[in-house]
Amino acid sequence: MKIIASNFKTNHTRKSTKEFVENINKFLKDENIDNEVLIFPTATSLDEFSLVKNLTIGSQNAYYVKNGSFTGEIGTDQLDEFGIKTILIGHSERRHKLGESQKDIALKYNYYKSLGYKIIYCVGEPLEVYEAGLTETLGYIWEQFDGIDLDYDNLILAYEPVWAIGTGVVASLDDITTIHKKIKKKISKPLLYGGSVKPTNLDAILKIPNVDGTLIGTSSWNVEDFKQMIKITKDN
Ligand code: PEP
Repeated sequence: MKIIASNFKTNHTRKSTKEFVENINKFLKDENIDNEVLIFPTATSLDEFSLVKNLTIGSQNAYYVKNGSFTGEIGTDQLDEFGIKTILIGHSERRHKLGESQKDIALKYNYYKSLGYKIIYCVGEPLEVYEAGLTETLGYIWEQFDGIDLDYDNLILAYEPVWAIGTGVVASLDDITTIHKKIKKKISKPLLYGGSVKPTNLDAILKIPNVDGTLIGTSSWNVEDFKQMIKITKDN
């Protein structure tokens, strides 16, 4: 069964997140949808939600500490308050816009792994690497697995080409086919695709072999669009 995940990034308020999550929860119940659905709200919108078992709220980020002096960060004391046991690690915006190094990412990964969190681990190449060719692209992606235990049970991978995230430019079906096949050959974990997925291209992407689901930003922020995409995911 395919997976669908929504990354809110820096969008939605506490109030609108609550409405969104409750709406999706009711939809999954009413439509008898069993697919795994994940929502990553902002840290300020984490809350105690009462949810069906296949709907999970995760954190977009957290530091690799329980608590301490890390201004602007949250740790597991804050996540525990809301029973959060799922985290996104390695997202391209944290790597490229916020300057997280592979070393930091691996430390974070190992910390959350040691606590048994479900980790959605993201990899993907920037445009200049993509343009340099497949060998360079794969080389870049393999380096993003440095320090990452790929045998970890509670791991979901996401391939998200940087140039396709939030740009409206989706990778071609051929590109997704090639990269997913290569990653799956080495790593046998669920593998999501992310990068400008929307209601009009989701069905075709989910039909690609080795695509186990999607991680969606922009087009998931509208609840009706997200519901439509959950429906498409169910039917695939
Ligand atoms: C993302 O944030 O992981 C993402 C894929 O964003 P978008 O769907 O906006 O490209």
